Amino acid sequence: MLTDAPEDSPATPGFEELGITGPVLKAIKDLGYETPSPIQAATIPTLLSGRDVVGQAQTGTGKTAAFALPVLERLDVSQKIPQALVLAPTRELALQVCEAFESYASKMKGVHVLPVYGGQGYGVQLSALRRGVHVIVGTPGRIMDHLAKGTLDLSELKYLVLDEADEMLKMGFAEDVEQILAQTPSEKQVALFSATMPPQIRRLAQKYLSDPEEISIKSKTATGTNITQRYLVVSYAQKVDALTRILEVENFDGMIVFVRTKNETETLAEKLRARGYSATAINGDVAQVQRERSVNQLKDGKLDILVATDVAARGLDVERISHVINFDIPTDTESYVHRIGRTGRAGRTGDAISFITPRERYLLKHIEKATRQQPTQMQLPTTDDVNTTRLARFDDAITAALGDTARVEKFRDVISHYVRNHDVPEADVAAALAIVSQGDTPLLLDPAEDRLAKAVEADNRPPREGGARGTRDTREPREPRTERRGRGDYTAYRIEVGRRHRVEPRQIVGALANEGGLGRDDFGVINIRPDFSTVELPANLSPTVLEKLRDTRISGRLIEIKPDRGPGARRSDTREGGYERRDRDERPPRGDREDKPFRKPRHKS
Ligand code: AMP
Repeated sequence: MLTDAPEDSPATPGFEELGITGPVLKAIKDLGYETPSPIQAATIPTLLSGRDVVGQAQTGTGKTAAFALPVLERLDVSQKIPQALVLAPTRELALQVCEAFESYASKMKGVHVLPVYGGQGYGVQLSALRRGVHVIVGTPGRIMDHLAKGTLDLSELKYLVLDEADEMLKMGFAEDVEQILAQTPSEKQVALFSATMPPQIRRLAQKYLSDPEEISIKSKTATGTNITQRYLVVSYAQKVDALTRILEVENFDGMIVFVRTKNETETLAEKLRARGYSATAINGDVAQVQRERSVNQLKDGKLDILVATDVAARGLDVERISHVINFDIPTDTESYVHRIGRTGRAGRTGDAISFITPRERYLLKHIEKATRQQPTQMQLPTTDDVNTTRLARFDDAITAALGDTARVEKFRDVISHYVRNHDVPEADVAAALAIVSQGDTPLLLDPAEDRLAKAVEADNRPPREGGARGTRDTREPREPRTERRGRGDYTAYRIEVGRRHRVEPRQIVGALANEGGLGRDDFGVINIRPDFSTVELPANLSPTVLEKLRDTRISGRLIEIKPDRGPGARRSDTREGGYERRDRDERPPRGDREDKPFRKPRHKS
């Protein structure tokens, strides 16, 4: 039964109640956001009312939407002079914020968001500026360059956001930021976000913001000591494979896997089912009756894994839940405490495992503070761990089948007949039958082929020190660069998203890289057509990777990837817009993910 436990569920207003309407509301619903995060709930109404804001918030809290939604809500699309400027410390963050703006604006017509950062040629930026943009997201240095050259008109600017202000100052941008603040219209609205509030930031806020509302999200503290908390540092692209390994070796009974969005509940549940697990999605869109049915199935052991959003799992009380997995870390510690409290019910012990991407490491301190426990770091189970478990399960399956004496008796005659007629040792016949039962899936993983371990190891390398401009980009583990491919090594694929769906090359690279575990050098020419696009990928792409790519959605649409049979399919030189390869901490792994493991069926349904 789903009940709203009072300790867990203060009535949170929805996005509508915060003042978000029309196409912006539609876009966030489509993205699968169910409820505003605390920073959003506090910031959105204030910004919509026109007041300046100083927000203490970090990456992962949902702060981007907290400032982007109010900007988009009030944007005048007919005016193609920059109305909003977001300053971000690094190129990575600028691109990330840009992408967020684009996704929140996906249901608005003709909104142009431009990233402006150092290292990129001026040409692209200048022609985009000439065509007209509404929102600019840039690093302070390059914005200053444009202002000095007179190529950026900020005379109509209405909204200015300083994102990760403390980082910008640490990176030596203080002067640039102040100059930009001084050179923009005085009546603009300013929002400043910073993870920390050192005196320099306070001074900046006092000087350039007018009567700002200060918003910081305080987290409640409380959690049971019967819950063991562990975490694994793993980047986004490896999460599904890492989860599969954990599921193989971890002795679990019932499990809830938490993700951030409704859409992700569906896609992850589907992936887990494809790997042989009994998993189902629950989210705010799933009808109450269906949710209760899934929860009852979990209770009865007919279902092992629920993939859920916070809203769907509110107050859920099932004794059988031995494990909670935070596939995505929640946007606030309160949700974390609530989530892990779904296990360890009725005096039992429970296990909570959180996936933390390298950029999210800092959250551990917050979790520790909120739960008054230090989560321990876990290692990715090795191929040996997995193989030992698989062999044990294999043995168990034989033992269980031998227990069915009546059927064993019948087959014994058949086997004896075979042994007599073919003169083959019984052990060989048993091995042959094991091949039949196993199908094409190898029983054991090959440690020499353990790409997942290498990728996770890279995620766990200690961050490098650095303080100069741009070092943020190098703090994350990098994928070793490989030689560029020759043109003949690519095959063109067609995907069913095009200009009409407002897709950009960057999104295509990001989505395919994440889903298929592709590296940056795996992409050739991308050609965006009105109704579809073509993308060149390695000619020797394995069927497993293609299978994974088939499930990919871009701008909410299933891409239905297939080899391009259109005219000029092999070569497409009319590259559109020249895609940027995006460096991201959540960098995809090279090579395939693991095969579906051998697994004793856990239940009948
Ligand atoms: P940010 O702190 O802005 O970097 O956001 C962290 C992540 O949370 C991003 O992947 C967002 O897409 C996601 N996110 C932001 N707001 C919400 C929300 N209200 N519900 C679910 N996910 C969200």
